[in-house]
Amino acid sequence: MSSINDTASQAFIALGSNLENPTSQIRKAFDELDKIPSSKLLVYSSLYRSAPVGRLDQPDFINAVAKIETRLNPHELLSALLEIERRHGRTRNFPNAPRTLDLDILLYDDLEYHQHDLTLPHPRISQRAFVLQPLMEIAPNCRIPGYNTIAELLATCQNQRVERITP
Ligand code: AMP
Repeated sequence: MSSINDTASQAFIALGSNLENPTSQIRKAFDELDKIPSSKLLVYSSLYRSAPVGRLDQPDFINAVAKIETRLNPHELLSALLEIERRHGRTRNFPNAPRTLDLDILLYDDLEYHQHDLTLPHPRISQRAFVLQPLMEIAPNCRIPGYNTIAELLATCQNQRVERITP
């Protein structure tokens, strides 16, 4: 991992995959997050298996959350993530479609931001157990601006199937 200076921001990235060896897609993506320019992978969660949301006739997902340090601004970071998705052969055929790799910015420091192509915190962070559970594992006390604690949010998603995969 490269080292960067003290002015870096901290961001949490959600990873998800349900096509073409999802576990391997996620593990490769951890390495690629560490190679984003001016950025460094700090910690990443276990892998979790989750039931698809929205469109049910597709394979289970593998999910994880990673924490990075970065000197990229949020839009530069989003571009870097979209480029990694592209390299994994990600296509966007229809909403909630199966995917080789999905990377979302969950949190960027304490930023609350709303633009047509980027919303922070991520707009669906509070409703998705497959994001909240790995986030709880690596940052149980982290603040989600505008929302309740992670534990409180998780309590409202108990009906969603998410299981930690034993390493
Ligand atoms: P999807 O991959 O289908 O989840 O959608 C990706 C698109 O959502 C990106 O191209 C962004 O323009 C938009 N977007 C809005 N907020 C975020 C965010 N916090 N993280 C990632 N993508 C976001």
